Amino acid sequence: MKLILLGAPGAGKGTVAKRLTEIDGSVQISTGDILRGAVKAGSELGKEAQGYMDRGDLVPDALIMGIMGNRLQEPDCAKGFLLDGFPRTIPQAEALDEILTKLGIKLDMVVDIDVPRDVIFDRLCTRRTCENSDCQAIYNVKSMPSKVEGKCDKCGSAIIQRADETEEAIGHRLDTYNEKTAPLAGYYKNSGLLKTVTGTSSDAVVDAIKAELKI
Ligand code: ADP
Ligand code: ZN
Repeated sequence: MKLILLGAPGAGKGTVAKRLTEIDGSVQISTGDILRGAVKAGSELGKEAQGYMDRGDLVPDALIMGIMGNRLQEPDCAKGFLLDGFPRTIPQAEALDEILTKLGIKLDMVVDIDVPRDVIFDRLCTRRTCENSDCQAIYNVKSMPSKVEGKCDKCGSAIIQRADETEEAIGHRLDTYNEKTAPLAGYYKNSGLLKTVTGTSSDAVVDAIKAELKI
Protein backbone atom coordinates (compact mmCIF):
# COMPACT_ATOMS: atom_id res chain seq x y z
CA MET A 1 0.00 0.00 0.00
CA LYS A 2 1.11 3.55 -0.65
CA LEU A 3 -0.20 5.87 1.98
CA ILE A 4 0.44 9.23 3.57
CA LEU A 5 -0.36 9.41 7.26
CA LEU A 6 -1.34 12.89 8.37
CA GLY A 7 -2.07 13.91 11.92
CA ALA A 8 -0.68 16.03 14.72
CA PRO A 9 2.43 15.00 16.63
CA GLY A 10 1.24 12.29 19.00
CA ALA A 11 -1.78 11.31 16.89
CA GLY A 12 -0.30 7.83 16.53
CA LYS A 13 1.10 7.97 13.01
CA GLY A 14 4.18 5.97 13.96
CA THR A 15 2.24 3.24 15.75
CA VAL A 16 -0.29 2.92 12.94
CA ALA A 17 2.50 2.83 10.34
CA LYS A 18 4.30 0.04 12.19
CA ARG A 19 1.13 -2.08 12.32
CA LEU A 20 0.47 -1.53 8.63
CA THR A 21 3.98 -2.68 7.69
CA GLU A 22 3.13 -6.06 9.18
CA ILE A 23 0.23 -6.50 6.76
CA ASP A 24 2.01 -6.42 3.41
CA GLY A 25 5.65 -5.56 3.93
CA SER A 26 5.26 -1.90 2.97
CA VAL A 27 8.00 0.19 4.58
CA GLN A 28 7.50 2.92 7.14
CA ILE A 29 9.30 6.11 6.19
CA SER A 30 9.46 8.53 9.09
CA THR A 31 11.25 11.80 8.39
CA GLY A 32 11.47 12.38 12.16
CA ASP A 33 13.30 9.05 12.65
CA ILE A 34 15.61 9.76 9.71
CA LEU A 35 16.44 13.21 11.10
CA ARG A 36 17.02 11.95 14.65
CA GLY A 37 19.31 9.25 13.24
CA ALA A 38 21.27 11.95 11.39
CA VAL A 39 21.56 14.07 14.54
CA LYS A 40 22.83 11.08 16.49
CA ALA A 41 25.32 10.19 13.76
CA GLY A 42 26.57 13.79 13.70
CA SER A 43 26.22 14.06 9.91
CA GLU A 44 25.98 17.38 8.06
CA LEU A 45 22.26 16.87 7.72
CA GLY A 46 21.97 16.23 11.45
CA LYS A 47 23.95 19.36 12.32
CA GLU A 48 21.70 21.48 10.12
CA ALA A 49 18.50 19.95 11.45
CA GLN A 50 19.16 19.75 15.19
CA GLY A 51 18.43 23.36 16.21
CA TYR A 52 15.07 23.39 14.44
CA MET A 53 14.11 20.07 15.93
CA ASP A 54 14.99 20.90 19.52
CA ARG A 55 12.89 24.06 19.32
CA GLY A 56 9.97 22.17 17.85
CA ASP A 57 10.26 24.04 14.55
CA LEU A 58 10.01 22.42 11.16
CA VAL A 59 13.25 21.69 9.34
CA PRO A 60 13.47 23.69 6.04
CA ASP A 61 11.60 22.14 3.11
CA ALA A 62 14.75 21.93 0.97
CA LEU A 63 16.48 19.65 3.48
CA ILE A 64 13.47 17.37 3.73
CA MET A 65 13.01 17.15 -0.02
CA GLY A 66 16.67 16.23 -0.41
CA ILE A 67 16.11 13.29 1.91
CA MET A 68 12.79 12.15 0.50
CA GLY A 69 13.66 12.50 -3.17
CA ASN A 70 16.31 9.83 -2.62
CA ARG A 71 14.46 7.72 -0.10
CA LEU A 72 11.46 7.10 -2.35
CA GLN A 73 13.72 5.69 -5.05
CA GLU A 74 15.24 3.02 -2.85
CA PRO A 75 14.23 -0.52 -3.87
CA ASP A 76 12.36 -1.33 -0.63
CA CYS A 77 9.72 1.25 -1.58
CA ALA A 78 8.55 -0.83 -4.52
CA LYS A 79 6.28 -2.94 -2.31
CA GLY A 80 4.69 0.11 -0.82
CA PHE A 81 5.35 2.78 1.78
CA LEU A 82 3.75 4.57 4.68
CA LEU A 83 4.83 8.18 4.87
CA ASP A 84 4.89 9.16 8.53
CA GLY A 85 5.57 12.82 9.24
CA PHE A 86 5.92 13.82 5.61
CA PRO A 87 4.71 15.95 3.87
CA ARG A 88 4.34 18.58 6.60
CA THR A 89 3.84 21.73 4.50
CA ILE A 90 2.04 22.59 1.27
CA PRO A 91 5.35 23.11 -0.61
CA GLN A 92 6.46 19.62 0.52
CA ALA A 93 3.17 18.16 -0.72
CA GLU A 94 3.59 19.87 -4.09
CA ALA A 95 7.19 18.66 -4.39
CA LEU A 96 6.08 15.14 -3.44
CA ASP A 97 3.43 15.20 -6.17
CA GLU A 98 6.13 16.01 -8.68
CA ILE A 99 8.42 13.22 -7.47
CA LEU A 100 5.61 10.66 -7.54
CA THR A 101 4.55 11.69 -11.02
CA LYS A 102 8.14 11.40 -12.21
CA LEU A 103 8.49 7.94 -10.66
CA GLY A 104 5.09 6.84 -11.96
CA ILE A 105 3.80 6.12 -8.46
CA LYS A 106 0.15 6.54 -7.45
CA LEU A 107 -0.91 6.99 -3.83
CA ASP A 108 -3.75 4.78 -2.58
CA MET A 109 -4.93 7.12 0.13
CA VAL A 110 -4.08 9.96 2.49
CA VAL A 111 -5.22 9.19 6.02
CA ASP A 112 -5.77 12.07 8.40
CA ILE A 113 -5.71 10.77 11.97
CA ASP A 114 -7.80 13.20 13.96
CA VAL A 115 -7.28 13.19 17.74
CA PRO A 116 -8.43 15.92 20.20
CA ARG A 117 -5.71 18.36 21.27
CA ASP A 118 -5.98 17.63 25.02
CA VAL A 119 -5.49 13.89 24.41
CA ILE A 120 -2.48 14.65 22.21
CA PHE A 121 -0.91 17.01 24.72
CA ASP A 122 -1.21 14.48 27.51
CA ARG A 123 0.21 11.70 25.32
CA LEU A 124 3.25 13.67 24.28
CA CYS A 125 4.12 14.74 27.81
CA THR A 126 4.14 11.10 28.93
CA ARG A 127 5.87 9.71 25.82
CA ARG A 128 9.34 8.22 26.07
CA THR A 129 11.60 7.07 23.24
CA CYS A 130 14.44 4.55 23.06
CA GLU A 131 17.62 6.58 22.54
CA ASN A 132 19.15 3.98 20.19
CA SER A 133 18.69 5.57 16.76
CA ASP A 134 18.40 2.14 15.13
CA CYS A 135 15.50 1.22 17.43
CA GLN A 136 13.56 4.34 18.49
CA ALA A 137 10.88 2.21 20.17
CA ILE A 138 8.16 4.31 21.76
CA TYR A 139 6.84 3.93 25.29
CA ASN A 140 4.41 5.81 27.47
CA VAL A 141 4.91 6.15 31.20
CA LYS A 142 1.16 5.86 31.77
CA SER A 143 -0.21 3.54 29.12
CA MET A 144 2.75 1.57 27.78
CA PRO A 145 5.70 1.47 30.22
CA SER A 146 8.76 -0.65 29.49
CA LYS A 147 9.16 -3.83 31.53
CA VAL A 148 12.26 -2.50 33.29
CA GLU A 149 12.00 1.19 34.12
CA GLY A 150 14.18 3.35 31.89
CA LYS A 151 15.32 0.46 29.70
CA CYS A 152 14.10 -0.46 26.24
CA ASP A 153 12.38 -3.87 26.03
CA LYS A 154 13.67 -4.43 22.52
CA CYS A 155 17.33 -3.41 22.68
CA GLY A 156 18.17 -2.60 26.31
CA SER A 157 19.22 1.01 25.58
CA ALA A 158 18.11 3.89 27.77
CA ILE A 159 14.63 5.30 27.33
CA ILE A 160 14.60 9.08 27.28
CA GLN A 161 12.28 12.04 27.00
CA ARG A 162 13.02 13.78 23.71
CA ALA A 163 14.34 17.36 23.85
CA ASP A 164 11.25 18.45 21.88
CA GLU A 165 8.89 16.77 24.34
CA THR A 166 8.99 19.33 27.11
CA GLU A 167 5.64 21.10 27.66
CA GLU A 168 6.89 24.26 26.00
CA ALA A 169 8.24 22.56 22.90
CA ILE A 170 5.10 20.41 22.62
CA GLY A 171 2.84 23.50 22.69
CA HIS A 172 4.99 25.01 19.98
CA ARG A 173 4.92 21.84 17.84
CA LEU A 174 1.13 21.71 18.04
CA ASP A 175 0.84 25.38 17.01
CA THR A 176 3.23 24.74 14.11
CA TYR A 177 1.12 21.75 13.12
CA ASN A 178 -2.08 23.82 13.05
CA GLU A 179 -0.48 26.54 11.03
CA LYS A 180 1.65 24.61 8.53
CA THR A 181 0.44 21.02 8.35
CA ALA A 182 -3.31 21.06 9.04
CA PRO A 183 -3.92 22.79 5.64
CA LEU A 184 -2.73 19.60 3.94
CA ALA A 185 -6.10 17.99 4.68
CA GLY A 186 -7.71 20.52 2.33
CA TYR A 187 -4.98 19.95 -0.26
CA TYR A 188 -5.59 16.20 -0.39
CA LYS A 189 -9.35 16.55 -0.13
CA ASN A 190 -9.21 18.38 -3.45
CA SER A 191 -7.35 15.48 -5.03
CA GLY A 192 -9.96 13.03 -3.72
CA LEU A 193 -7.46 10.98 -1.72
CA LEU A 194 -8.35 12.08 1.80
CA LYS A 195 -9.86 9.80 4.41
CA THR A 196 -10.28 11.29 7.88
CA VAL A 197 -10.30 8.82 10.76
CA THR A 198 -11.36 10.13 14.13
CA GLY A 199 -10.25 7.96 16.95
CA THR A 200 -7.97 7.73 19.89
CA SER A 201 -7.09 4.07 19.50
CA SER A 202 -4.49 3.04 16.95
CA ASP A 203 -6.28 -0.31 16.52
CA ALA A 204 -9.44 1.47 15.41
CA VAL A 205 -7.44 3.59 12.98
CA VAL A 206 -5.75 0.50 11.50
CA ASP A 207 -9.13 -1.24 11.15
CA ALA A 208 -10.63 1.78 9.39
CA ILE A 209 -7.71 1.87 6.94
CA LYS A 210 -8.01 -1.85 6.22
CA ALA A 211 -11.74 -1.50 5.63
CA GLU A 212 -11.21 1.39 3.25
CA LEU A 213 -8.53 -0.51 1.28
CA LYS A 214 -10.56 -3.75 1.43
CA ILE A 215 -7.65 -5.76 2.87
P1 ADP B 1 6.25 14.36 15.81
O1 ADP B 1 5.35 13.95 14.69
O2 ADP B 1 6.10 13.54 17.02
O3 ADP B 1 6.35 15.83 16.02
P2 ADP B 1 8.53 13.61 14.24
O4 ADP B 1 9.36 12.55 14.80
O5 ADP B 1 7.69 13.34 13.06
O6 ADP B 1 7.71 14.12 15.45
O7 ADP B 1 9.43 14.88 13.90
C1 ADP B 1 10.32 15.46 14.84
C2 ADP B 1 10.88 16.76 14.30
O8 ADP B 1 11.57 16.52 13.08
C3 ADP B 1 9.83 17.80 13.94
O9 ADP B 1 9.44 18.57 15.06
C4 ADP B 1 10.57 18.63 12.90
O10 ADP B 1 11.52 19.50 13.51
C5 ADP B 1 11.35 17.58 12.15
N1 ADP B 1 10.60 17.04 10.99
C6 ADP B 1 10.16 15.77 10.82
N2 ADP B 1 9.53 15.63 9.63
C7 ADP B 1 9.57 16.86 9.04
C8 ADP B 1 9.08 17.36 7.81
N3 ADP B 1 8.42 16.58 6.92
N4 ADP B 1 9.29 18.67 7.53
C9 ADP B 1 9.96 19.48 8.39
N5 ADP B 1 10.44 19.06 9.58
C10 ADP B 1 10.26 17.76 9.90
ZN1 ZN C 1 15.44 0.20 21.85
